[in-house]
Amino acid sequence: MVFVLVINCGSSSLKYQLIDISGEKVLAKGLVERIGMSGSALIHQSAGREKISMEQPVADHQKAVELVLTALVDTGVVDSMQAIQAVGHRVVHGGEGFTQGVLVKDDVLAGIKKCIDLAPLHNPPNITGIEVCAQLMPGVPQVAVFDTAFHQTIPQSSYIYGLPYELYEKYRIRRYGFHGASHQYVAQRAAAMLGKPLEQLRLITCHLGNGASITAVAAGQSRATSMGLTPLEGLVMGTRCGDVDPAIVALIMEKEGLTPDQVVNDLLNKKSGVLGISGLSSDFRDLEQAASQGHPRAQLALEIFINRVKEYIGAYAALLNGIDALIFTAGLGENSPSIRQQICRNMDYLGLAVDNTKNDIRGQEADISATGATVRTLVIPTNEELMIARETEKIAVSYQLSAVSKGRG
Ligand code: ADP
Repeated sequence: MVFVLVINCGSSSLKYQLIDISGEKVLAKGLVERIGMSGSALIHQSAGREKISMEQPVADHQKAVELVLTALVDTGVVDSMQAIQAVGHRVVHGGEGFTQGVLVKDDVLAGIKKCIDLAPLHNPPNITGIEVCAQLMPGVPQVAVFDTAFHQTIPQSSYIYGLPYELYEKYRIRRYGFHGASHQYVAQRAAAMLGKPLEQLRLITCHLGNGASITAVAAGQSRATSMGLTPLEGLVMGTRCGDVDPAIVALIMEKEGLTPDQVVNDLLNKKSGVLGISGLSSDFRDLEQAASQGHPRAQLALEIFINRVKEYIGAYAALLNGIDALIFTAGLGENSPSIRQQICRNMDYLGLAVDNTKNDIRGQEADISATGATVRTLVIPTNEELMIARETEKIAVSYQLSAVSKGRG
């Protein structure tokens, strides 16, 4: 058994999973929420047991990690903290320096800190998580796995913006892309489901959750993706605007008297998307229900969302010179037959057709293509934590082997 703890640290939350990577089994998972606020709580679930929720003060991330480790021991998931052999951290932005997961050492931590400019909201809590775990679990390898890494294979022709090139040289302003572990995981699963080597496949992976992105994958590599310098670009999302004319930013600032931070971090990131359009909710369940009852702006929000997804599928199919499969994943992609069906409607030009009966599933792997479709449509529940655990094990094991051989040498 090889126990890997996967940590995803947000500014006020910490999600975790303990995975036995030898059998790829989740032993426990949970969440510490409202860190540093009132009403903080640990929600913990061991495999095959009821979820437990413990409301208690959690002042900071150190306290949160301590709580998680205590819960893992107290609920009998592990005998002691020493049973955890490696920790894998989800890190949002790895810039251009990190093309795969890495063992965290001082220079790596410095490299992640350098990327704070690119992800000021996400990288600082990720770094805190790494520092706290390193302190509380001395000697246990800590591995950083980046959301951006999978997309580092995207060619310049897709990652350089139409801006003065010096801005890229000076500030590394370019497309990076996110949800890398998810796009990579579903691409690998698609190859297994289709019984073909990944190297021979051209895929479009649609990660449609609250945050949403689409990736063109050829031969197992990311070739284009809809998110950009930050996760704001691309699709219309739950609360993010996606692609807009950049001139709009200056206009809103002037007309509404807002600062750049207020426009970008608040208005465009948190108040836009289907929430902003509908004026109702960022949750697609609420929108689908309201739309079915005739709510005009909920209907409009869904139409706009679906339209944008179709536009990206068309663009990426053109870029890949046709595709072998279209994949739906994440909260909405896995759970909404109606959204999948509407996205795939009138796509027979591409060879895509969905069977309504096969499409009537939620949260499970399925080929939902209609008979005669020349392009497969697949639903694949994502598993970012498993991808992080696999990469963590790979890196931690090679580190331990090299430590042993150095010891012998
Ligand atoms: P996040 O980006 O926060 O990880 P998720 O991948 O968990 O998001 O997706 C959350 C979104 O998925 C919800 O906001 C909701 O809109 C959508 N969703 C989840 N279940 C369903 C469902 N049964 N029908 C429609 N939408 C759903």
